[in-house]
Amino acid sequence: MTIAALAPETRNLIDGELVGASHGNVFENLDPTTEEVLGTAADGTREDAERAVAAARRAFDETGWGEDPAFRSRCLRQLHEGLLEEKEQLRSIVVHEAGAPLSLTSYMHVDEPIEMVAYWADLAGRYEYEQAMSDVSFLGRSQRRIMRREPVGVVGAITPWNVPLYLNLTKIASALAAGNTCVLKPAPDTPWSGTHLGRIVVEKTDIPPGVLNIVASSDHLVGEVLSSDPRIDAVSFTGSTRTGRRIMACAADSVKKVFLELGGKSATILLDDADFAAVCPAAAMTCVHGGQGCAISTRWLVPRSRHDEAVEVIRSAFEAWRHGDPKRPENLQGPQISRLQQERVLDFIERGKREGARCLVGGGRPEGKGFFVEPTLFTDVEPKMTIAQEEIFGPVLCVIPYSDEEEAIRIANDSPYGLSGGIHSGDEERALRVARRIRTGTLSVNGGQWFHVDTPFGGYKQSGVGRENGVMGFEELLETKVIALPGSER
Ligand code: NAD
Repeated sequence: MTIAALAPETRNLIDGELVGASHGNVFENLDPTTEEVLGTAADGTREDAERAVAAARRAFDETGWGEDPAFRSRCLRQLHEGLLEEKEQLRSIVVHEAGAPLSLTSYMHVDEPIEMVAYWADLAGRYEYEQAMSDVSFLGRSQRRIMRREPVGVVGAITPWNVPLYLNLTKIASALAAGNTCVLKPAPDTPWSGTHLGRIVVEKTDIPPGVLNIVASSDHLVGEVLSSDPRIDAVSFTGSTRTGRRIMACAADSVKKVFLELGGKSATILLDDADFAAVCPAAAMTCVHGGQGCAISTRWLVPRSRHDEAVEVIRSAFEAWRHGDPKRPENLQGPQISRLQQERVLDFIERGKREGARCLVGGGRPEGKGFFVEPTLFTDVEPKMTIAQEEIFGPVLCVIPYSDEEEAIRIANDSPYGLSGGIHSGDEERALRVARRIRTGTLSVNGGQWFHVDTPFGGYKQSGVGRENGVMGFEELLETKVIALPGSER
């Protein structure tokens, strides 16, 4: 299905109803590839967000949603089925509004995220919410204890635009599976990856009114209702570290649980015994989806002893890299999400040049429509340069030379972030030894892939707080209660 066949206007989901904004306004949804307006979305206000929070609070306090895992599991299966029926529409939305490469939609953007909903439906049904602990003695008397895991309550979910359907589904499905009710605020640049989920929930599931609410808005600050309203028990946020700090501050007043997935500046270490011809072409993957992925390796650390050889292979890979219209299956890189992001990335590139790094490939924007940035390769990068320290979120790779393994580890860890990274070596034991010393939440050794719905994902340092996905991610959304009873000798 083409984008033209989709409803050109979308509404928010509040208390079981698809509604326009309280003041009746809409905002435009732009295609970053063509710069054309795709359609509109209801422009939710703070009042709309407050109504959504009230609905989620009531649904949590007054319906049995939190106590009925079998019903939750059934509802999430209905959602999974509904998503499968609309998979092609969703694919079209993600390609058009996020500029996601079509050929990546079967992985991170559409097919896999939909399958993840089945995982959450299953986990909701099979998780052991109550377990007996071993008996203990207190003042000479035996004590029994039961440990219960209960939903945390109302979850406010706030998402960015880079992998919008995946992040919206991950946050919604895990929160609902754990028995919470939820208010989602999707990113203004990708409203339909949120609002279409609201429509599918209403049309295809028995999820009760108020359990899930979705409020799109052009106003970022509508998100502050979710981080500050005392009726919200936990905030689950994915986005920039700057916004993450603000969310933590807003949440402090009501002492909410805060779960944050933030930025990254991941490093791949190429050890001197790696097969450079086989491994170095993967460096061009920095540019995948315009480099708009938090866990992408944007620093490649290469040994001085084989520096020029590595750079030659990486340069060839960058020159052969296919980019452009994301609807063409050969392109793994489309546009940046917006003019603002395009300018931000180009600004970083200029700073890199000014600070003395060598721009070997790209560095500009192609002619014509769309918010494109050329795949850009910097060499002679010093670890303290701005482009080696700050998250660019663009198709820009920094090659940084190192002298020995110790220095490589030091450079990799010399970052305020700690999200992901990689090691390549001809000796797996050596690579593992290095991997154990890198301060990040995930790592790939010799191209191994960690991404899966059951993999706990999150960051060290300023890359975040907590873990998403897997049983560990599910348990982030649960409270723990221990009930003690007199022991059996009574
Ligand atoms: P952003 O922080 O600007 O916005 C993210 C979301 O927060 C949007 O919905 C936005 O409207 C909302 N928001 C903005 N200000 C807010 C406020 N004061 N209170 C509440 N909500 C507010 O991030 P972005 O530019 O949309 O996304 C890019 C960033 O996301 C990058 O830094 C990237 O690394 C990060 N990211 C991280 C992960 C991860 O899992 N670690 C995944 C994807 C993206």
